[in-house]
Amino acid sequence: MTIFSRIIAGEIPCYKIAEDDNFFAFLDINPVNWGHTLVVPKHETDYIFDLSDEELSAMTLFAKRVAKAIKAALPCRKVGVTVLGLEVPHAHIHLVPLKNEGDMDFSHKISDPDPEKMKQIAEAIRSNFE
Ligand code: 5GP
Repeated sequence: MTIFSRIIAGEIPCYKIAEDDNFFAFLDINPVNWGHTLVVPKHETDYIFDLSDEELSAMTLFAKRVAKAIKAALPCRKVGVTVLGLEVPHAHIHLVPLKNEGDMDFSHKISDPDPEKMKQIAEAIRSNFE
């Protein structure tokens, strides 16, 4: 069971953003920028391009809804999209609110984010999710 499956199962706490039958979104615990969100399929698959066409398409559409909520909740120009997958073997899409290119620098993460700020950001994004 991956760490993301344990988060989805509620065994590990997270700042949850949204879920449906097949996908789950929550704040990255070491964000590159405030509002950095992960979108994951509930079905465990390591590599995103091993997902079926149907699952990948549905995941993209779910991520679009989350990105719209991030953009509505936080001051940013756009929401950037990245797939890395080098650390956690459970497919996921990174969504990061951007004002400039440096906001998506994965070599400079916020290492110990303030829990109260994370909670407020999650609530703001959640309340804009449609
Ligand atoms: P990647 O696999 O895409 O290289 O990186 C995995 C991402 O998941 C990292 O940005 C990391 O901060 C995040 N992450 C790893 N473990 C946890 C966790 O337990 N909770 C949350 N919310 N994020 C995590």
